[in-house]
Amino acid sequence: MTDSDRALHRPALGDARWEGVECRPYKEDERALFKAITRQVLFSDPALQGELRYFEMAPGGFSTLERHEHMHGVMILRGHGQCLIGDTVREVAPHDLVTIPAWTWHQFRATREEPMGFLCMVNAERDKPQLPTEGDLAALRANPAVAAFLDIGTAEKV
Ligand code: MN
Repeated sequence: MTDSDRALHRPALGDARWEGVECRPYKEDERALFKAITRQVLFSDPALQGELRYFEMAPGGFSTLERHEHMHGVMILRGHGQCLIGDTVREVAPHDLVTIPAWTWHQFRATREEPMGFLCMVNAERDKPQLPTEGDLAALRANPAVAAFLDIGTAEKV
C-alpha cells in the first residue's frame, strides 16, 4: 500500500456536506440542553492527536452550555450568530476564529435567519464536558449580557 493509497479525498458535496462523512446527531448525552444541531467528524485518525469536526445549527439552534479541561479552536464556516465564552457574549461571522480556553463556559447560537456552521478542532483524547449547576447558572446570570443571551433559548419551547 502506498502513501497515496492511504490518503483520503472526500469531495465537498455543497451545503456543508462531504462525501463519505456521516451527518450525526450532535450528542448522545440526553442530560444536555441543545437545539437543532448536527455533527460531522471530518478528521479522526489514530495518527493524529486532534480531531476536526463540523457542527451546524439550524436557524435559532444552539449548542450545549458546557465547560471542560480540553480547549477548542473554532472557525465559523457559514452563517452568523453569537457565542458565549466565559462572561462575554460575542457576535460571530464567517471565517472568524475563536478559541475556548480550558474550563471556560461556552455556547454557540445561530441567528433566526440562517443556519450557522463551524469547524471545531479538539484533542482526540479529551475529558467529558461538565454541565452548569443551578449555582453556576446564577453566577453566569449575574452579568446582564450573559443573562440576555441565555434567555433567548429558555423563552421558547426547546
Ligand atoms: Mn465544548
